[in-house]
Formats: sequence, C-alpha cells, structure tokens
Amino acid sequence: MDNLTASEVAGFGVGTLLACATIAAPRIDSFISSSQRSSLGMCKRCGDLRLIACTNCRGVGSVKAEGLIRTGVLVDLYETMFGEDLGGKTVACSRCRGRGNFPCRDCHDRQ
Ligand SMILES: [Zn+2]
Ligand SMILES: [Zn+2]
Repeated sequence: MDNLTASEVAGFGVGTLLACATIAAPRIDSFISSSQRSSLGMCKRCGDLRLIACTNCRGVGSVKAEGLIRTGVLVDLYETMFGEDLGGKTVACSRCRGRGNFPCRDCHDRQ
C-alpha cells in the first residue's frame, strides 16, 4: 500500500462503489420507485449520490479496447477491486473521459 497515494485510494473506493451501485441500481429501482424517492426528498435521478455512473463503462472509467470481446461485470469488478488486469487492453472511456461518472444535473440545479 506504500506506493498508493490517498487520492488514488479514494478514487479506487469511489469507483468500486459506483460500479456496485450501477450493478445494483435496477434492483434498487424495483424497490424504490421514483415517486417514492421524491416523497422522501431524494433526487429522482441519482438517489442523492449526486453522481450518475457512466453507462458506457459502468462507472469504471475505462473500457476494453475495441476488438477484444471479453467483457463481463465480474471480470471488470475483479479488475477494479484488485487492480489486476486479467488480460486485454483497456482504454479511457470516451463518453465520460475516464472519470466513470457525471455530476447529476438535477442535484446541481437544486443547489
Ligand atoms: Zn464512461
Ligand atoms: Zn441527483
């Protein structure tokens, strides 16, 4: 851990969290409808996370390089959690420019 900076660790944690949130989102949505969210005072779009995970890279910030058909949530999650590349090249996601998420516009407007 000595060669990891605090910001790297923080980014790593947020990325993992967002990846999990993205995977869990459809289930959460089935439990909490958007109308219930608004009655609870939660943001309808992001559930008060203030961030929308990028759907292109599932919040990871990188995607498999084109031409390699070896994708899967579990593989991506493993690579994100353990920092190990199981093979294949990754490139920065073009949609979110490698950030993995977008600020929630609804939350931004409410501020
Ligand atoms: Zn992305
Ligand atoms: Zn929001």
